[in-house]
Amino acid sequence: MSITLHGIGIGGGIAIGRAHLVSHADIEIAHYQLQPEEIPQEQARFDEAIRTTRKELETLWGSIPENAPAELGAFLSLHIMLLNDHTLSREPRQIIEVQRCNAEWALSQQLEILLAQFDEIEEEYLRERRSDVEQVAQRIFKTLAGYDASAHTPVSAGEDAILVAHDLSPADMVLFKDTEYLAFITDVGGPTSHTAILARSLDLPSVLALRHARELIDEDELIIVDGINGVVIVDPDESILAEYRVRQLEWQAKQKALQDIRTRKPVTADGVEVELFANIELPEDCALSIENGASGIGLFRSEFLFLREEDLPTEEEQYEAYRAVAEAMQGQPVIIRTVDLGKDKIPKWQEESDSPNPALGLTGIRLCMAEPQMFRTQLRALLRASAHGKIKLLLPMLSHVAEVKQTRRHLDEVKAQLREEGIPFDQDIELGGMIEVPAAAIAVAHFLEHVDFISIGTNDLIQYSLAVDRNDDAVSHLYDPLHPAVLQLLRHIIETADRLGKPVSMCGEMAGDPQLTRLLLGLGLRRFSMLPIQLLKVKQRLLDVSLKDQEAVVAEMLKVSDNDTLRGLLQRLNE
Ligand code: PEP
Ligand code: MG
Repeated sequence: MSITLHGIGIGGGIAIGRAHLVSHADIEIAHYQLQPEEIPQEQARFDEAIRTTRKELETLWGSIPENAPAELGAFLSLHIMLLNDHTLSREPRQIIEVQRCNAEWALSQQLEILLAQFDEIEEEYLRERRSDVEQVAQRIFKTLAGYDASAHTPVSAGEDAILVAHDLSPADMVLFKDTEYLAFITDVGGPTSHTAILARSLDLPSVLALRHARELIDEDELIIVDGINGVVIVDPDESILAEYRVRQLEWQAKQKALQDIRTRKPVTADGVEVELFANIELPEDCALSIENGASGIGLFRSEFLFLREEDLPTEEEQYEAYRAVAEAMQGQPVIIRTVDLGKDKIPKWQEESDSPNPALGLTGIRLCMAEPQMFRTQLRALLRASAHGKIKLLLPMLSHVAEVKQTRRHLDEVKAQLREEGIPFDQDIELGGMIEVPAAAIAVAHFLEHVDFISIGTNDLIQYSLAVDRNDDAVSHLYDPLHPAVLQLLRHIIETADRLGKPVSMCGEMAGDPQLTRLLLGLGLRRFSMLPIQLLKVKQRLLDVSLKDQEAVVAEMLKVSDNDTLRGLLQRLNE
């Protein structure tokens, strides 16, 4: 009988193939008491398991194929780092001694403590690292149980195999590298888990968080994986199969059409030139940006360097990351946003915030003003990296012009220091400001006097204009990019920047939504910055449109407030 499962679709299209099940890593944990004299021996058994697991991971790391996504190596090193951390490799030894228990039990106790700590983390990206810790611990359990990973090669699967797993660690992915799978699905994994990130970069149809896929699907059973809608259909009947074969062909045709415009210049049918940039979070994202034809980086969210580590990143670490991006983009502009922490991005080294309302607290540029040492270290690293490419600086969460003036003073002082030390940097480095707070949007003319360019952060601009927390599901229906207040603010910002002759771009999610491309062009926007995977879809929306023909519809959209009328007009733009 056919069944349909729902999970998180990671994209990659549709696959139809035969299920290949891989075993669930969970192992029954035994618990037994030790005699005092047995403790050192048990601790030695645990140490040996850590050593073997480390060797195993290092061997896998060394065998990553050259064409594998860059993240694979990074995630595998993260697993080696986690394994080396004393919380996993040392604490269980203590537990063996204190509780006089076996190594497996000690590790499971320690794992429970660690996982409970992760559950309390509010920031989604960090909370998702829980599964990395779990995956590393599962490998240690396996080693303790005597499983020798190096002696096993995965069972080879047929040509149309779809991998069905409880979870897939980066190490599993290296092991499966020699087998060509059409798609993969897992029981667990969130939208920002490493499994999801790897799935996206492999560009295979994949659905995660299906909960019981491994139990419900039999080996070799026919399944459809719809990575676009997050659906898996087990044992489909002929009519469903036929329908999905058509959908698959449609999707492939769409992909081909997108690939065909990869090298085309983003110019509208009536000759208006547009620039499309990429938003990135890690230097590794540059490859995908270039592949999708980005004209540069419109937003590098530098805070991700600050969220990954236990401590503040050093000047050197930052310099290397900024330099890597500048060099990878080979002279194309790279806009690096200075650290935007606070709100939902709280780093490990920062004390739990006791702000009554973090979104209105010490966030973005405000935190940088309050922590001048941290800010100046970042400015130094950025300036040093500017000798290797076309770096521009961008300040987040501006609400007072004084924040720009103060930054310029810091910048001048850091530049003077570098000159004295004979360190090269771009003397004319540009300084831009994010317009994402309503106050800055309304008074944008004042900000434009002091910055070289502006970038509109619609994610926050909408949240603050409509008083709707962008992360709160309870009010997500009120988060509306088409709200008249938002459209009028956008028009005002773009018009003012044009009038004052300063470049304006947009780097919030609105810029990457192909449904909104023509509306934004109609509002006068010419520079868009978005996730690399959105670039071609947005380009497609602008290539065959004549802006002249759409002016009247956009003007009408700025006048109406009724939601249905607005949506109807938007549809007309998109026809
Ligand atoms: C924005 O607010 O639109 C933006 C681009 O910044 P972030 O999403 O990082 O807050
Ligand atoms: Mg923002």
